Amino acid sequence: MQINNAKPFPFESLPQELRDMVYKNLLEDVSYPSPAIPQPASSLNGMLAGLWESATNLRNPTQAPKPSNWIFLVNKQIYTEYMDMLCKQGTFNLTVSPENYQPSAKDDKIWSIAPSTFKNIHKASLQIVTTSAMLGCIDPRNMASSSWDLAARIRFELSLLESCTHLTLNAKAIGDPLWNPLWIWYHSSQSFKNIGTALSDCPTGPMLDKITFSLDTWSPGENYLEKDEANKGAWTWYCMKEHNVGLDGGPEQTVREFCGMLYRECRTCRPAEEGEAEEE
Ligand SMILES: [Zn+2]
Repeated sequence: MQINNAKPFPFESLPQELRDMVYKNLLEDVSYPSPAIPQPASSLNGMLAGLWESATNLRNPTQAPKPSNWIFLVNKQIYTEYMDMLCKQGTFNLTVSPENYQPSAKDDKIWSIAPSTFKNIHKASLQIVTTSAMLGCIDPRNMASSSWDLAARIRFELSLLESCTHLTLNAKAIGDPLWNPLWIWYHSSQSFKNIGTALSDCPTGPMLDKITFSLDTWSPGENYLEKDEANKGAWTWYCMKEHNVGLDGGPEQTVREFCGMLYRECRTCRPAEEGEAEEE
C-alpha cells in the first residue's frame, strides 16, 4: 500500500497486544451485502465492499476513508488476527432485500460469508427489507407465519451464528398499495422472536434482543419489541421514547393483538385524561 519509499515498519514483530490495539483502531462495522455490490462473488469481495461502504459512508461525508484497513490483505496471519478482532468487537449488518433474495436459489446462502467467520461473529444486526412478494403467498391473511419459506431459510442461517450474543432485527416493509405493511411486520415478529429457544424450529443459535418495525416511507412511529431483562427476558413493547407500554402476547398472538401493541399509546408520553378510558 505504501507508494512512498517510507521505511517499512516491523508490524509483525510487535507483541500481540499491541497489534490488537492497532486492529481495534481500524475496526469498522461491515455490511452484507454492500449496496455497492449487491451480490458479492466471494466473502473477500463482500468484506472489501463492506469496508469500502463504511469508509465512504455518505452519512459521514467528513469522515476520512481508512485505506489502512486494507492491512488485513497483507498476509494470512494478519487477516486472521484482524478478522478475529472484527468478529469479537464489530457489528455485522446482515440484510435480506429484493436485491439479494432469490426465491429460485433456495440452496444458496443468503450472505456470502465464510463459515469460519460466520460462527465467530459476536454482534449482528439483521434487516429484512420485505416486499409483499417476498412473503410468497397471495393472501397474507391466510398465511401461517411458520409457513414463510424465506423466514425459515434466514432462521437456519442465523442458527449458524454460534458465538453471537447480541442480535437485533429490523423488519422494514416496502410500501404496496394493495397490502398493509402490518402483515409483513406481524409475520416477521412471529417468525423470529423465539429463535434460539425451544419455541422455535431453530432452538440453537442466537436469540434476538430487539425487534424494530419500519417502512420505506415516513411513518408516524411504531412501538418496538425488546426483551426486558428485569422481567426474565420477557418480550416487552416500548414507545419510541423507550417507555414500557406492555407485555407481548407470545407465540399465539393474533395479528389484531400485535397491531394493538404496535400502536398502543404510551401512558408516560400521553397521560390518560379524564374520560378518555371510556372513549376507547
Ligand atoms: Zn412513551
